[in-house]
Amino acid sequence: MKFVHIDAHTHAQFPAYDADRSEVIKRAQEAGIAIVNVGADLESSKDAVRVAHEFPEGVFAIIGLHPTETEAGGEFDYEVYKSLAEESKVVAIGECGLDYFHIEGNLGDAKIQQKKIFLRHIELAKEAGKPLMIHCRNAMGDLIEFLQDNKAKLNAIPGIMHFFTGTAEEAEALVALGFYFTFGGVITFSNDYNAAIGRIPLDRILSETDAPYVTPAPYRGKRNEPLYVLEVERRLAELREVSTEAMAAQIMQNAKRVFGPIFE
Ligand SMILES: [Zn+2]
Repeated sequence: MKFVHIDAHTHAQFPAYDADRSEVIKRAQEAGIAIVNVGADLESSKDAVRVAHEFPEGVFAIIGLHPTETEAGGEFDYEVYKSLAEESKVVAIGECGLDYFHIEGNLGDAKIQQKKIFLRHIELAKEAGKPLMIHCRNAMGDLIEFLQDNKAKLNAIPGIMHFFTGTAEEAEALVALGFYFTFGGVITFSNDYNAAIGRIPLDRILSETDAPYVTPAPYRGKRNEPLYVLEVERRLAELREVSTEAMAAQIMQNAKRVFGPIFE
């Protein structure tokens, strides 16, 4: 495959790109970037799979139910998601996890519901033999404890922590469980994550945009898109004091290890 960079967590299937989706994806592909579109509910998961099939190569999908969708009564129909998980272009299960930032109703009930649905994703990842793509906000302590409690249900390569915002110590606990980490645009304009980035082994780091959100410098204020993952990669290389080329090569190797031979 001619792809030498990866946007490992993006949402090019979202309505933000309805007017120019193929141009956005082609711009990334011409720069050698493979992209992984992540679902947040059943509809956007199906859309991610559909968009992946529209391109002969370099576009992949992840399917799941975002934790903030569980409170609004979002259902996780295991069999429906399982049939999506079996699609050839689906490389992981998610985005799933815990998010205590957005809870509007009863906190205790929401936490129980989120953990219940997160566990179903863990079980699906195991059954499908694919890694998890985990979202976590204001819940890192609970998340790590939950993963440690359910360690026996995790795959040998359990998955990726998306947009990791935890401390260096929390990163270490997740490294010990076998997790990988994606970093996005925020690292180009904030130094808050430098300590964690410095502590995670180079062979566990991937790049992402989370587009259309969190646009990296120098494009802040514009709509984000997968092409801008190059800015994230550049910043990761700077922080780890390696060349941009070496960082890109390392990230692609990591992507192949975590997502499997589909990136060969
Ligand atoms: Zn996302």
